[in-house]
Amino acid sequence: MASPVRVRIAPSPTGNLHVGNARTALYNYLFARQTDGVFILRIDDTDAKRSSDEDIDGVIRGFRWLGLDWDEGYAADGDYGPYRQSERQDLYRSHMEKLLAEGHAYRCWCTPEELDVLRKQAQRERRPFRYPQTCLNLSAAERSAHERSGDPFVIRFLSPREGSVDFVDLVRGDLSVEAAELDDLVIVRTDGTPTYNFASVIDDSLMKITHVIRGADHLYNTHRQLPIAQALGFDLPAFAHLPLLTNPDRTKLGKRSGAVFVGDYAAQGYLPEAVVNFLALLGWNPGDTQEIFSLDELVEAFSLDRVNRANAVFELQKLFWLNGVYIRSMSVADLTDRSIPFLADAGTVDPDQVDLDYLRGAVALEQERLKTLTEAPAALDFFFDAEVTPDPKHLVAKKQTPEASLRALELVLTRLQAMPAWNHDSIETCLRGIAAELGWKAGQLFMPIRVAITGKTATPPLFETMEVLGSTRTLARVKSAIEVLAA
Ligand code: GLU
Repeated sequence: MASPVRVRIAPSPTGNLHVGNARTALYNYLFARQTDGVFILRIDDTDAKRSSDEDIDGVIRGFRWLGLDWDEGYAADGDYGPYRQSERQDLYRSHMEKLLAEGHAYRCWCTPEELDVLRKQAQRERRPFRYPQTCLNLSAAERSAHERSGDPFVIRFLSPREGSVDFVDLVRGDLSVEAAELDDLVIVRTDGTPTYNFASVIDDSLMKITHVIRGADHLYNTHRQLPIAQALGFDLPAFAHLPLLTNPDRTKLGKRSGAVFVGDYAAQGYLPEAVVNFLALLGWNPGDTQEIFSLDELVEAFSLDRVNRANAVFELQKLFWLNGVYIRSMSVADLTDRSIPFLADAGTVDPDQVDLDYLRGAVALEQERLKTLTEAPAALDFFFDAEVTPDPKHLVAKKQTPEASLRALELVLTRLQAMPAWNHDSIETCLRGIAAELGWKAGQLFMPIRVAITGKTATPPLFETMEVLGSTRTLARVKSAIEVLAA
């Protein structure tokens, strides 16, 4: 039996989950779920100076918000931990010693200044910079002089010079790089910490990763990592490199795109379901015209075969559209719950005191029109304002005088006050009756009423809005509109 799939996401703890990493995590997650495999979270913090617990929390909050739960790894159980690279120094050290002992790695005492001179020279001569193996070729005397004086050194991997480094990518097919192109990579820094490529190879092997699925920005790293893995005698995982994300103008996805961190999407009122759906389609195509996918449907439908090679263009408009689709398909109760934090932030409602039935009634009326949760306060505020302040000119009916409009609103008030039951049908009958009596078109009468009770010219359907507002609020607002017109 083939060994079960084990995949990982290995974010660097940057305080916030980048959307590129979120997309990579999603594809790993889908692949794991679909194959009954294991999805692992590893924290890539070899550069421990820069990462704090809060930085890690910021990243994993993003995964949790998206609903991408992991089975093993950081903040979960597992037999292959620790899952934080800064806690795995001993493992890196022992592998480094093995490479040194077997002649696959060597100490390099070249100073950054010396390397800089060489790099600039290469630039001037318009050739790629390769480390010239100065320290590989030191005499025994030179080497022991360095050792005696305690000069700082890095460890370099002795890259093969002959042949090519090849692998078959599950997305891109056969890939090959001339070995001579590869540099003698620094694998351990002067402070003894491993570099990304070294730590990654060791962890992927020790954690028994079967498939490395990551962004195409790591393609070259894969060519660098393979010889290291081979030198360490590791079995190689399969590789799949995901298309890069670009702005619509084909530039690399960056801050200009609106939102590059998952936390930004949450703050901008996007739903995790919509973001997941959006990310799934950034680089994978389902092979038919279906565009709306739940996470479960994605688990069913996803396949690495249909991951695109071409860059994936990031169209925020599409997310905006998807978000509206998800908002419209949610239950009113769910949409209400998710709107409350946004309404509370804007001061529209006090979450501890809100009348949930009333709020749900209001949300139900706005559901069709909402595209993001951040729109909820502006859409719903008139349901909660103590009073609305209509623009007097909008209280005047089309092709009517202010006096005629005033008399019409007075009639509306009297009739509404006399209504035995307050529901949208009876309100409709009442108001249409008044319009007929006055010889007005319905719309002529409805607009001033709409403006009187909401303060706005564009609102959800009038009778339903009045029903939800209730008779007390509605009548009070019609009364104050009358006072405005009478003034
Ligand atoms: N820390 C790397 C990144 O966030 C991980 C790359 C990999 O998957 O190996 O890009």
